[in-house]
Order: sequence, then C-alpha cells, then structure tokens
Amino acid sequence: MVAQLSQSTLLAWYAESKRDLPWRHTTDGWQILLSEILLQQTQVSRGIGYWLKLVERFPTPQSMAEAEVDEVLFLWQGAGYYSRARRLHALARQVCLPSSEGGYDGVLPTTSAHLLQLPGIGPYTAAAVASIAYGEPVACVDGNIRRVMARQAKSANPSVKEVEQWANRNLFHSDAGDWNQALMELGATVCTPKQPKCDGCPIAPSCSGQLDATAYPEPKKIKRKRLDLMCELRYDSSGLPFLVQRGEDGILAGLWGPHMEEELDVESLIFIGEVKHVLSHRDIFVQVWLGICRQGMDPSTVAVSALDRKILALGDRQGYRS
Ligand code: SF4
Repeated sequence: MVAQLSQSTLLAWYAESKRDLPWRHTTDGWQILLSEILLQQTQVSRGIGYWLKLVERFPTPQSMAEAEVDEVLFLWQGAGYYSRARRLHALARQVCLPSSEGGYDGVLPTTSAHLLQLPGIGPYTAAAVASIAYGEPVACVDGNIRRVMARQAKSANPSVKEVEQWANRNLFHSDAGDWNQALMELGATVCTPKQPKCDGCPIAPSCSGQLDATAYPEPKKIKRKRLDLMCELRYDSSGLPFLVQRGEDGILAGLWGPHMEEELDVESLIFIGEVKHVLSHRDIFVQVWLGICRQGMDPSTVAVSALDRKILALGDRQGYRS
C-alpha cells in the first residue's frame, strides 16, 4: 500500500534543491512567458543565454511590438524552431493593440483563459505563466509531469486527460506556481527518463512504479521523416555568399540562407558535399552545389539558421570565406 503524495515534502524539497535559474528571480509575467516559450524546445542550459539576451533587448511586450520580426529572429538564431520567435512577435503586437481592437492595451493578460487566446500559447504555457507569475490555481501538464504521473500511478500509457486529472487532483492551490515548478523540477532532475534517482526522491513513498520506473511511461515511437534538399551556395568575388530571406512558411521561414529547393538546376554548379541536419522528428539532407554571384552579403548581419550555418561552414572548408 503506497502513501498519498505529500505536497509539503515535495515543496520543501523544491525550496531546498531547485536550480538557480535566472527567470526564477522575477515575477514579471512577460519575462516568465519568454522563458516558457524558449524552454518548449530548447534545453535549459542553452535557454539561459537566449533568455538573458531577449530580456535585455525586449524587457516589455511594447519593446518587442515596436521592433521588426527580423530583430527577434536575429536574437533567436541557433535556438531552433523559429516559428516560436515569429509567434512571440505576433503575440507582443496583439497584446499592445488597444482593447477596442481585440488587444490588451500593452498589458499581458493574467489569466490562463486569456493567455490561451494569444498566438503561440497552448494550455501548458498558459497554465505555467498564469500560475507562476500570477498565482492562478491551475495545473500544468508537460512531458516531465506526465512521466512523474505515469510512474507514481504505474500507468504505462496515460492519456492527456488522465494526466490532467492527476495534476488537478494533486494541485497545491495556495501556491500553484511553486507546485507546478516543483513537479517539473522533479521530472527534470530526479525522475529523469533513463536513470531516475528514486533513492533521493522526495515523493518515493507514494510511488507505485519505482521498482520498474523506466517502464513507465512506455516510450513513444517517433516516426522520423527524411527531407532531401538541394542548395546553391554562390559567392561573390570578395568571398561573401548570396543569401535570400525565406518566405512566411516552412521550418526556416523568415530566416536568411543560400537558395534551397527540393529540385534545382545545377548544370553550371560544382557539387561540394552533403550536409545533414537532425531535428526532433526529421532528418534533413542537403546537397550543396557551388557557384558564383555578383553580390553577396555578410551573414553575421542577418538571422541565419543552424542548418544554413553548416552549409556556409562547408563552403568555408572549400576555401571560401564568409
Ligand atoms: S520514486 Fe522514482 S519513479 Fe517514483 S517519482 Fe520518484 S524518481 Fe520517479
């Protein structure tokens, strides 16, 4: 017979053991929102540097709304999943619209229901910001909490609804922000996917699945997709590459890079190699072909993705310098 999950033990553990992360020193909703959007798909260790840069340049929704989206993308370079940066910029602009036009007069809404109406905000982010910044008693559900729940309840494949019900049932209403963060921190640092540290876990007494923890939840089978592209990497006589800004759609939307398509006419170009780039669900293979152009541009002045940087590095290794 396992014990009931002890809220006080988990909260005491969190107070004692939480990592010292810069966004944990602010109660500003906008700055917490920036951290949550960054951490959706960027590791904490890498996210810190991006968060510090973003908060310095865009301390308020107004400061981002007044900037061009290119500047947000420029600061986002290397963090990946650039649609987040574009949606964040759209969010800032919507927040800064007058309320008569569907905006919030420059003030980030404080409830999860209103946050959910903004571009790029899903149920997790809305609950995280509303609970952490504004104390709304609303439970978060993310991958870390799902894993903790699956192990505590010894449930191999819990549905979203089951995880939500568990999170709501166990929510510590008087301090939902710390409670949500405590559960997520436990999932990130103790109840980890491959090597959970059950010996030091503050909620081990209530855990049904600890003897076979890594069996819960069942690993999801991710189908990887392959994308083959061709790229023409053209340089001018001073060694600067020809770059284009990509359109509004696709994984590299709004970013700058050499011209890439699924099919290109490469008759007058020289093949110099292949670049592989791995995303969470997709492997991208780019054949790179070398050519010349009249006028290139300095890639350090625009937002360039990690994939494009690899392509430019291949050109550098061929003796071209950008
Ligand atoms: S006892 Fe182990 S499996 Fe259970 S919640 Fe703690 S770390 Fe996770």
